[in-house]
Amino acid sequence: MHEWALAEAVVMSVLRIAKEKGLKEVKEVVIKIGELQQIDIEIFKFALSELKSERNLENVEFKLETIEAEMMCRKCGYRWKFKDESLSEDVKEAIHFIPEVAHTFMRCQKCGSPDFEIISGRGVWIESISGVT
Ligand SMILES: [Zn+2]
Repeated sequence: MHEWALAEAVVMSVLRIAKEKGLKEVKEVVIKIGELQQIDIEIFKFALSELKSERNLENVEFKLETIEAEMMCRKCGYRWKFKDESLSEDVKEAIHFIPEVAHTFMRCQKCGSPDFEIISGRGVWIESISGVT
């Protein structure tokens, strides 16, 4: 499952980074999740808690933070946020599932161009790791 594969990748990265930093014990890991990332947070949290007990990371606290999606027009440079779009729930669902379809439903709010970039709100990454050296 997608969430499990993601949790596995996060745990592996945490172990690698902890080793590079020379941490004896990892205490806190901050994970950022893009608003447009199709992920079930509850399953992801569950997968993390299962995996951490298998990998000697029992005392780690995983903090999950959502990053707002933001778009930037390639024509005029205007930036706007996904949450400011007045889209129907069905359309929002579709965009969460396949971010590429955003271009079908959305236009630059300033110049009307459909040529924009999604500059944030996608992907999952480790923001920081702290612990005892
Ligand atoms: Zn524009």
